[in-house]
Amino acid sequence: MRKLFIAGNWKMNLDDVGAVQLCQDLKTQLAGCGAAKVDVAVFPPFVYLPIVAEALRGSTIAMGAQDVWTEGNGAFTGEVSVDMLKDVGCTFVLVGHSERRHVIGETNELLNKKAKVALAGGLNVIFCIGELLEERQGNKTEAVVEEQIRLGLAGITAEQMANVTIAYEPVWAIGTGVTASKEQAQEAHAFTRKILTDLFGAEVAEATRIQYGGSVKGANAAELTAEPDVDGALVGGASLKADDFMAIINNGASNVGGCGGCCCG
Ligand code: PEP
Repeated sequence: MRKLFIAGNWKMNLDDVGAVQLCQDLKTQLAGCGAAKVDVAVFPPFVYLPIVAEALRGSTIAMGAQDVWTEGNGAFTGEVSVDMLKDVGCTFVLVGHSERRHVIGETNELLNKKAKVALAGGLNVIFCIGELLEERQGNKTEAVVEEQIRLGLAGITAEQMANVTIAYEPVWAIGTGVTASKEQAQEAHAFTRKILTDLFGAEVAEATRIQYGGSVKGANAAELTAEPDVDGALVGGASLKADDFMAIINNGASNVGGCGGCCCG
């Protein structure tokens, strides 16, 4: 069974005091979980990465950045390199979040470069995919998702896939309060795994974790992560409060190996 992976994308939220407080609350609430059945990571804004790394010290919570540039250190005003992210303690990076694709305008080709440079530099990548509402309504979900995967992961090796998590995030569900049904999520995740099988073989596809993202809350985490191809969640709004995020972690963990409704093993 793939271990669940719950990640919190803070987007452009919180301040320095709020960021540290959230880490402390999560640390306290996760403490005592022993060999937790869920991997947890947070993705703060760039400027808070160093204080979050400090606040998370001694915990099992991993830290990642929300973006990375395609080149190494040099003349790229405003951008942040893989080496810089590793320097401040990141082990993960998000690539292709829907806001980067649809608000900032990042293309599949640019995102492919970001994924490749991050993996080559030793970061784990959460690679985000997902269709717009009009694409779903036009029955284009599979075509969009397939193109995002094939172009976004082009040139990435089967070995490197050990460091890739896919996040299926239908754009119409992000920040809207509308969640994909468990059937819609399972269908898109199974299709994603089918494309991964075609690209990298069944063993790699089976081992790759595919998170669902889009208005995940404590109340729907258990039913979503109970689906056979839903291996966790990428959480936005509900990751900004420790109690809300912990409810998702605990309810997700209730699906993992007889945990009985908590993340403690
Ligand atoms: C996200 O930002 O990736 C996300 C899924 O946001 P929310 O949980 O708020 O829908």
